[in-house]
Amino acid sequence: MHLQFQGAARSVTGSMHMLTVQGRTVLLDCGLVQGRREEARQRNSTFPFDPSSIAAVVLSHAHIDHSGNLPGLVRHGFRGPIYCTKATKSLCDVMLKDSAFIQERDVEFINKKHQRKGLGPVTPLYTRTDVEATLPLLRGMEYGQTFDVIDGIHCRYEDAGHMLGSASLALTLKEGSHTCHLVFTGDLGRPGLPILRDPVFVGDEADFLISESTYGGRLHAPVSAMEEQLLDPIRRAVQRRGKIIIPGFAVGRTQELVYVLHRLSIEGKIDYLPVFVDSPLSVNVTEVFRKHPECFDEETRAILASPENNDPFGFERLTYIRDVEHSKQLNDRPGPFIVIAASGMADNGRIVHHLANGVGDARNMVVIVGYQAENTLGKKLVDKQPIVNIFGEPHEVKAEVVVLNSFSGHADRNELLSYVGKFNRKRMKRVFLVHGDPAQAEQLSGGLQAAGFSAVGIPDRGDEAMLC
Ligand SMILES: [Zn+2]
Ligand SMILES: [Zn+2]
Repeated sequence: MHLQFQGAARSVTGSMHMLTVQGRTVLLDCGLVQGRREEARQRNSTFPFDPSSIAAVVLSHAHIDHSGNLPGLVRHGFRGPIYCTKATKSLCDVMLKDSAFIQERDVEFINKKHQRKGLGPVTPLYTRTDVEATLPLLRGMEYGQTFDVIDGIHCRYEDAGHMLGSASLALTLKEGSHTCHLVFTGDLGRPGLPILRDPVFVGDEADFLISESTYGGRLHAPVSAMEEQLLDPIRRAVQRRGKIIIPGFAVGRTQELVYVLHRLSIEGKIDYLPVFVDSPLSVNVTEVFRKHPECFDEETRAILASPENNDPFGFERLTYIRDVEHSKQLNDRPGPFIVIAASGMADNGRIVHHLANGVGDARNMVVIVGYQAENTLGKKLVDKQPIVNIFGEPHEVKAEVVVLNSFSGHADRNELLSYVGKFNRKRMKRVFLVHGDPAQAEQLSGGLQAAGFSAVGIPDRGDEAMLC
């Protein structure tokens, strides 16, 4: 039995780990690498193994850095089952179609450039046809129930509290007379996040642990600070009659933002302010949310059941925008208003147009509410670069950029230490830290060793580890 780390190793995106038991290999996640366009394209277009040799995929959640290369895997010959939770299955349906659309459009853009330079055309990573071939392979499973992945691998999903449908995996592995327990945290959420249930501990029966480490060295403001943190930059921008531009991951962050804005609106704090969610994907995903109340916390269920204000994803001043023309009209609309658009790292999607249109105006406000990977436009704004390239053109950044650290969907250092700290230290043979930049993973590693976990590793891409 062994593991090989193929993605999100000493980095955050492209989550993909190979687990081999009884001579057959299963993938844990099959995500897209995000970041520098050329490098990402190169990594995403080839697999370091033969996809047709993979027996099954076990998916932790629907975020594109975990699920986004499933259609690529199928395009290159994979035909096995893809296990996920029921809500993840529903989300993949909309998210993978959207991702294929982005891939096809990206290639049009690249090929125009290539043509000018006399270079040959490139093909998309995958197309909507590949997505159509992928979706029937998805198997939606219940939380808390054990299922067989292949002979020798059993899996149980528990709620990771990170996004709708997100899960941690408790895997039991059997080969010959050996049995061992492997846990994969997936992306781990935070207790108290709006809408979602709190992360459920998978149980301390683990010999090996693969843990995320996104914020292994950082502390977030408490979830309870969300409303105040958001209100402060809104008020400043409203005084200047500026636009408030928020890149939001179409899944998760956008619905949370809407939920918090809904509360601020009911409390009369922003009831005058128009809010636009400009993303056809967010519109579709919000529909998926409404279909999966089994993933909601008590508070959200109570809102759904209340006689008035009973839509946590909508309120009077909120408009969801599907069509492009309506989206373009926002360019000429005078502030103040809020626009939330995807993608969350501003590397593609409608948010890029809003930023191209808005960053040059000092009245405007850009509010960053999620993780920004290296080399994305979002990260450049967070780093306060005075000039950023958007669609190949330089734009001077005059708008104010604020980063809110209470909105993270990821556990922070203390929350990670507390979650991992629940495992039996004597039993745990090795902890592998993934899904984190090296500095973050190293700080978490230090914390875990101080807490009594003697063997903690930060595997690099291609590294292998024997289990049992
Ligand atoms: Zn995630
Ligand atoms: Zn992730």
